[in-house]
Amino acid sequence: MSVSLRDGKSQDLYRRAVRYLPGGVNSPVRAMSAIGRDPLFVERAQGAELIDVDGNNYVDWVCSWGPLIHGHAHPEILAAVQATAANGTTFGAPTALEVDLAAEVVSRMPAVEMLRMTSSGTEAAMSAIRLARAVTGRDTILKFAGAYHGHSDGLLADAGSGLVTQGIPASPGVPAGAAAATVVVPWNDPEALRAAVAANVLAAIVVEPYPGNMGVVPPADGFLELLREEATDAGALLIFDEVITGFRVARGGAQDLTGVLPDLTVMGKIIGGGLPAAAFGGSVALMEHIAPAGDVYQGGTLSGNPLACAAGLRALQLLDETAYPRIASTTALLAEGLRAAADEAGEGIPIQIQSVPGLVTVFFSEEPVRDFAGAKRCDTEAYGRWCRALLARGVYPPPSQFEAWFPSLAHTPEQIALTTEAAAAAFAGLARTAS
Ligand SMILES: *Cc1c(COP(=O)(O)O)cnc(C)c1O
Repeated sequence: MSVSLRDGKSQDLYRRAVRYLPGGVNSPVRAMSAIGRDPLFVERAQGAELIDVDGNNYVDWVCSWGPLIHGHAHPEILAAVQATAANGTTFGAPTALEVDLAAEVVSRMPAVEMLRMTSSGTEAAMSAIRLARAVTGRDTILKFAGAYHGHSDGLLADAGSGLVTQGIPASPGVPAGAAAATVVVPWNDPEALRAAVAANVLAAIVVEPYPGNMGVVPPADGFLELLREEATDAGALLIFDEVITGFRVARGGAQDLTGVLPDLTVMGKIIGGGLPAAAFGGSVALMEHIAPAGDVYQGGTLSGNPLACAAGLRALQLLDETAYPRIASTTALLAEGLRAAADEAGEGIPIQIQSVPGLVTVFFSEEPVRDFAGAKRCDTEAYGRWCRALLARGVYPPPSQFEAWFPSLAHTPEQIALTTEAAAAAFAGLARTAS
């Protein structure tokens, strides 16, 4: 049986959108070109249910790419935003909400004593790196292939070829000099890491402790500990980019879960409760280098704005001790359900389901994915066909193989069951076309 979506209104909007917005969207992955279709336009959402402009309902496993750990339109978060908005949306002067949110973050993140807010994760990562360069007096940073830390110049670097450790621009418009100050190393490769640390004078090692932007590829045993050791020995700072993992994999993010403590932490997504907010933080000694306490310049017109702080604070307060076991069990049910669905479809479809609490990726791969090269070897065409079949059955998966599913506290057992049934049908469809 072939099923398809009603998408007349989305198509009309898309035709208008491409006249005014590059590719019709304001961030590339939304275009859905990675799964071979045009974007869907959203009408509204509630909990884990998303409704598009054509009236199709979906179980939403993207949840705005991470911020919505409580699902869409959580009544308490909406109430906090509405009450705050009634008193004005931005002042360009301090408010109590910023102090309350900072104190809440510090109470959760073991390696954060003080923080500076920004409006996006991109800004927060960029600013953390400026701070690391300022305090070390060094320029070069190390990042991992397939990790994403926002779209600032120096972080849009790819690995050079062969033995060259200097990064090369990952996008036209990135100056060669900016990329050259970034060393790009394969994830989960201790030898390559040691060699790169020895060959460069590093200001910082920047890392997604549980990478989610090449799909979910957890660190091998001991790898985060090795990063901590190598950074310390080299006199470099260790920067955890916890924009995804923060407040998601555990109360205090990956640093709380693993006990490996970074020098600086980059936060985003959940910290804004669905509004634009992000932050970077660390020890008082490091953070007091930031202006006006110190001389490292950093600022922003809407940084720490009341609406985002109200939403973020309420979102964090709602993440009580019952939340993490629930998110872990939702993740496990989803992962097991998807695995069972693939098994049902028989031999033809080799997949790997990789997860940590709050994050899942279904890789179309014969073998476990340990690094970006492994992620790139996946059958992205089969993934795309599978995703299109899921959408047609009322399930909204991340429309790219190189992303995570974001289980939330709003997903119900019924929505997980609907998802795994749709997944089984979609796998069966793939198996039929493969044979
Ligand atoms: C989303 C993301 C960013 C960038 O955050 P924006 O708010 O989109 O600028 C940085 N790092 C990681 C790990 C992310 O997932």
